[in-house]
Amino acid sequence: MSVSHSPSLPTNTPIDEARAALLKHTLSAALDYLNGEEPRTVAPGPEAVAALGVFREPLPESPTDPDAVLSLLEIYASPAMVAKTAGRYFGFVNGGCLPAALAAAWMVAAWDQNAAFFVQSPAAITLEEIALEWVRELLNLPAGTGGAVVTGATMANFCALAAARHALLARVGWDVEADGLFGAPPITVVVGGEVHMSLLKALGMLGMGRNRVVRVPVDGQGRMRADALPHLDDRTILCLQAGNVNTGAFDPAPAICPEARAAGAWIHVDGAFGLWAATSPAYRHLTNGFELADSWATDAHKWPNIGYDCGIALVRNPENLRAAMAMTASYLAFGEHREPSSYGPELSRRARGVELWAGLRSLGRAGMAAIVERNSAQARRFAEGLRAAGFKVLNDVVINQVLVSFGSAEKTLGTIDRIQKDGTCWCGSTVWQGQTAMRISVSQWATTDEDVDRSLAAMLRAAQD
Ligand SMILES: *Cc1c(COP(=O)(O)O)cnc(C)c1O
Repeated sequence: MSVSHSPSLPTNTPIDEARAALLKHTLSAALDYLNGEEPRTVAPGPEAVAALGVFREPLPESPTDPDAVLSLLEIYASPAMVAKTAGRYFGFVNGGCLPAALAAAWMVAAWDQNAAFFVQSPAAITLEEIALEWVRELLNLPAGTGGAVVTGATMANFCALAAARHALLARVGWDVEADGLFGAPPITVVVGGEVHMSLLKALGMLGMGRNRVVRVPVDGQGRMRADALPHLDDRTILCLQAGNVNTGAFDPAPAICPEARAAGAWIHVDGAFGLWAATSPAYRHLTNGFELADSWATDAHKWPNIGYDCGIALVRNPENLRAAMAMTASYLAFGEHREPSSYGPELSRRARGVELWAGLRSLGRAGMAAIVERNSAQARRFAEGLRAAGFKVLNDVVINQVLVSFGSAEKTLGTIDRIQKDGTCWCGSTVWQGQTAMRISVSQWATTDEDVDRSLAAMLRAAQD
């Protein structure tokens, strides 16, 4: 492919030698960090954390040479990083950062675009629009679905639920954006018993209340029970989950969605990581039925490995999202382009859609499916190894999540502590359906089978101590 570009950038003056040297120093500091040094623990050791004390100094009165500022980061911050990029970080549900996404992030920083309006950055807005459409296609969502690229699934849930709130109240003639929720006709929000806390937080931010929800009982994998649904009608927002944050389980959308749709309910899907299963022919069946929803929230900084921060809100009828998010001002003249600030909560924003585009452009459909398939196979490899050693795997390992108990709560927590201190890998703890467990989330492009075997060996060592 030949790429033509203008030989000079008329609006930029050449940077001086010191700035160029600073960027080269940055590259070498980044390479040193990424190359790492064995042995390095995944979580930083106590000395590295204690050394962060050097940053607790008074605000300098006078300027400092930027190169010296970078050196402070290189010397004191880099060694205290949680080594997420090495392939043996299995904490929470954290993706890594694909090489193309990292490269794009550097360019985004160099370009310093404000991705609020097309006129501020035609390139950033064009790439974001294309990336959103690619995400829609990858997730097998209906044509015409639109959305916003936001900071994470928390904000994606927020945006989608704002669109839902708008649509349901507009049906009864209530303009919630103009008149607020005081005195508005009530809306019922239905969630599963194991709803992610970020969705409840989003409801709170929207004035709909974290606790003012109807909770549907769940089964032994944390899935909403279709037989236990309350009455649904056209003033109900039903929040389903594609990928339980503990077990990875999917709510039974095929048993729920057709009826919920027929009742006129707005169906929202929190699919922060699980929805990406739709990209793999081997796992796609898990996401069946979720395409019947009205809105979806997902994360690109989880399974797609786009780097922080990148979440995506998608809404079947994007007019509902626009109604909830758009604003007007005398100096805003909108053209025929999609204006990101009309679909999301922010005005000024970084061009994170460029990183999303770059990551997806580098992966293609097959690359995305390969991450899902490899990580899910690696999760099973963990589960088999732990079971073979006599430990109890609490969940059906359907995708990338494994919950393991090493015996009593005390034993399990002690083992997790030793695993974290040993530093070969990192996993956190959880309490799920009354049981204390270690949670293994395999979500990174860089994780190899050898990483899994080394980590498994470290876990078994820690469990035997
Ligand atoms: C991670 C996660 C969220 C929150 O996502 P952020 O990107 O951290 O805001 C919401 N729901 C589920 C199911 C998740 O796994």
